[in-house]
Amino acid sequence: LVSREFHPADTVVDVDGVKIGGEHLTVMAGPCAVESEDQLKEAARCVREGGAQFLRGGAFKPRTSPYDFQGLAEKGLKMLREAADENGLKVVTEIVDKDDMELIGTYADVYQVGARNMQNFQLLKALGKAKKPVMLKRGLSSTISEWLNAAEYIAAGGNENIILCERGIRTYETFTRNTLDLSAVAAVKELSHLPIIVDPSHGTGRWQMVRPMARAAIAAGADGLIIEVHPHPEVALSDGNQSLTPKNFNRLMEEVKQIGALM
Ligand code: PEP
Ligand code: MN
Repeated sequence: LVSREFHPADTVVDVDGVKIGGEHLTVMAGPCAVESEDQLKEAARCVREGGAQFLRGGAFKPRTSPYDFQGLAEKGLKMLREAADENGLKVVTEIVDKDDMELIGTYADVYQVGARNMQNFQLLKALGKAKKPVMLKRGLSSTISEWLNAAEYIAAGGNENIILCERGIRTYETFTRNTLDLSAVAAVKELSHLPIIVDPSHGTGRWQMVRPMARAAIAAGADGLIIEVHPHPEVALSDGNQSLTPKNFNRLMEEVKQIGALM
């Protein structure tokens, strides 16, 4: 169902009027995790001012260490919805447990499946029955074929509103957190009709590299971006090192709009 052979035309996912795919350039941005009302409101304002369409933020965080901040759960979801509505933004947030589908669906517009859950087939099957779109991140060490098969699980359940997200893969390189595989954008465009966005924040793990890789992603043909932005990255509870300040996020948006216009 997700292959281009089966369906030659690009799929455009419509999130209540905000479109992803085709000619559209869609940006999702916000903090890695929802931390507090102040943090989120400041981030949401900056996301809107930069011209992005979606507010991102994790309320359920799949952290590498069990002792790290795990997220604010429903309290965080409520804060996301409120901050997004105040700024005319849509909400994308991660689901880590299929039993949270209804709860998250009450507050979010798009379900995010994180890299660690790309092959959580029970979760994918559940999302196949969801009424809202799914943004499916590439697994930490997944091939493009494994990733498209994961998307197929969701589509096979009846939900064809899927957005793919390249977020870097594990290689021998240690300077960056992951190796952002921009060739996946061109590969996915050849193999599938689904929209694909790029996450240069997790893809590099270094804020200094986020703007250059965002520009490259759009030049490579990505349908959009997901960017971590924090009003004060130095005190972020997660992923501060890869989070942009509002000022740098604005610069990124200016650059990306110019490149997008040439595409
Ligand atoms: C995130 O978006 O904050 C996240 C945890 O991403 P990934 O699943 O790509 O690591
Ligand atoms: Mn993060």
